[in-house]
Amino acid sequence: MLIRYVIGRPTAPLEPKTLKRGGVSRDLRRDTTLELYLRACKAEEVEPKPDYVEHLRIRDAKTWAFALDMWCTQEQEAAALYDASQVQAMIAKAPALPPKNGWHCERCRWRSRCDSDPMIQHLSDWPDVIDARAPTQLAIKYGRTRKVINRDRRGFVLSPSEMRSFLQCPRLWYIEHDRRKMIQRHGPAALPMLRGTLTHEAIRLMTDTPGLNMAKEVELMVQEMAVAGRIDAEAQAELSQPAQIQAIADRATEMHAMAMRGVAEVVEHEQRRIMRMPGSKKWVHGIPDAVVRMDDGRLAVIEYKTTSTFKDLSAVADRYRTNPAPHLYAALVMHGQLTF
Ligand code: SF4
Repeated sequence: MLIRYVIGRPTAPLEPKTLKRGGVSRDLRRDTTLELYLRACKAEEVEPKPDYVEHLRIRDAKTWAFALDMWCTQEQEAAALYDASQVQAMIAKAPALPPKNGWHCERCRWRSRCDSDPMIQHLSDWPDVIDARAPTQLAIKYGRTRKVINRDRRGFVLSPSEMRSFLQCPRLWYIEHDRRKMIQRHGPAALPMLRGTLTHEAIRLMTDTPGLNMAKEVELMVQEMAVAGRIDAEAQAELSQPAQIQAIADRATEMHAMAMRGVAEVVEHEQRRIMRMPGSKKWVHGIPDAVVRMDDGRLAVIEYKTTSTFKDLSAVADRYRTNPAPHLYAALVMHGQLTF
């Protein structure tokens, strides 16, 4: 099955600097775009420099949005299912307080909190730690009726994010999936996640209802988040900047267009799928961002990712090549069923 990763960076590009002596700066490290540079040159009435135009043309191609197509072979799919079944067994046998993987700590968001309470005795008192959402009920069609899958047993139902969390650090899995805690971010620290959420939501909207004024929709989404208390005043002020709203709208539009290249129809969009593990009574479930049918009739899984840091997105995309999550999604699409 084809897997298509579409990666975007929904931050607002910087305007090129204008020079005191006249003209436009050609700073190679400036986080700007060719469009903004050409516009600044026009405003300053100077000729664009061909070498800088070429630099920005190459930079634009891999700095704001990038798509990577790859194949999920049957072997990769089977390997991902094998690994998932082993992780399910490890979770089921894990002690009440699973051990740490101290080698992951330096990259872990829980590092300072976890370090100051190494036996997790006061988790509920950790600063800025709140309860995450309760797990979604998983119901499947069962003959003429429906059956609710039991989510209380450890390891009985597994998602790709739960699997990743356990393999990174069993203690991380315990905090986030067993005790269901999350860190509440404030102000600028919350912005990368909020920009990602808004971009995903904008893509969902344009998939469901083509032709919307996306900047207007993003602006409304920010207002709704503020009214619902999901963002604080500092984050709202930053996200309400016209350049930021436009950047999210532009990136979502660009990512959606990249995702839809060669696509005949969107079969599903953000639908949870579940399948029984081969040779087991356990389950694996997940939500592919989209399942599409390509022009040649084949099914494909689309995964949207956002990043906030200034990186070459082709290198970021390359890191996803070995990510087993879309391999599990491929298995879910081929052998699973929708939940409801
Ligand atoms: S959850 Fe695991 S990886 Fe994270 S800080 Fe604690 S021990 Fe380290």
